[in-house]
Amino acid sequence: MFYPSGKKNILVTGGAGFIGSHLCDELVKKNHVICVDNFITGSEKNIDQLFSDPAFKFIKHDISVALKLEDFFELKEFKVELQGIQEIYNLACPTSPQKYNNLPIETLMTNSYGTNNVLLLAKKHKAKILHLSTSAIYGDLDDMNLVREDNWGKVNPIGPRSCYNEGKRFAESLVMSYHSKEAIDVKIARVFNTYGPRMKLDDGRMIPDFAVNALLNKTVVVYGSEDEMGSYCYIDDMVEGLVRLMNSDINMPINLGSDNTVRIADLAKKIIDLCNSSSKLEFKEHLPYTSKQLVPDIGLAKEGLDWFPMVSLEGGLTKTVEDMKVNLKQYKGNF
Ligand code: NAD
Repeated sequence: MFYPSGKKNILVTGGAGFIGSHLCDELVKKNHVICVDNFITGSEKNIDQLFSDPAFKFIKHDISVALKLEDFFELKEFKVELQGIQEIYNLACPTSPQKYNNLPIETLMTNSYGTNNVLLLAKKHKAKILHLSTSAIYGDLDDMNLVREDNWGKVNPIGPRSCYNEGKRFAESLVMSYHSKEAIDVKIARVFNTYGPRMKLDDGRMIPDFAVNALLNKTVVVYGSEDEMGSYCYIDDMVEGLVRLMNSDINMPINLGSDNTVRIADLAKKIIDLCNSSSKLEFKEHLPYTSKQLVPDIGLAKEGLDWFPMVSLEGGLTKTVEDMKVNLKQYKGNF
């Protein structure tokens, strides 16, 4: 394929977030990347390393509002007017268990108006679009183990996490409707628990919570029972899965995550060890915004993308905890 600018133009919404920034790091090696983010839960720090790269452009914008790429003079370098956009990764969504309470309207608007705006861009440019959905669309299933894509889920439409769960369900429906009515080449990744460097330390996600308390030698609280299980996918594996999905012919939703289960209590102990901490474990009832953890069946991803997580929990946690040790210094005072 010939590109007037010399490279593919790829748009990443939510590119200054945890997953988005790692995805931009990878995509910018071979492509032009246009990262769009309003920093509602992401941070400029996550993309600091990319600003000096001529293959990277950043646009601060709320995707709930229509995005006119022609308004951005800096995109002339990528010849967007002539070449358009070839691929869109749609990651934008406030994603923080504690923020569901604070940002419910923003979460619903981003998933509805925002996803629609991104799909309109895909239509205009005849671009492929990969939308990041979530295991949360399955809700609170009775059997949490090895959930397959043909499970329709069990979701409370007015529960404490409903803005996220229902927002993401609506977004999937919208994406599939553009596929059937407008013949857009769409992909949907149902992402399960993903972890790694650059996760925010203070937004209520489990692994940063464990690490921060362990590093401060405070009690590490596990919400749920001693036998509760979970599974965790390292960020490098997730990015690889997303890129493979974009390059595939698959148009139906596909689970991406780890199917390797671990007791959450053991995960917490591992993190305490990696932090050389004297913290003790305590078990408490689930908070309203936490939920039991689903484990994905990733048979489709294995077969269709030849993908499965490669990074060991030990290896991934070691890198993650190292990053958190450094970042905690800037957060001191918030805990
Ligand atoms: P994140 O909060 O770090 O990243 C989301 C990014 O989207 C942030 O940078 C935020 O500022 C941006 N954003 C939100 N609303 C926006 C808007 N209206 N306009 C522009 N930018 C906006 O979260 P993450 O963990 O990197 O998640 C990325 C995507 O993956 C999300 O769609 C999330 O739902 C999905 N996901 C993540 C996980 C996980 O384990 N991290 C699991 C399931 C699904």
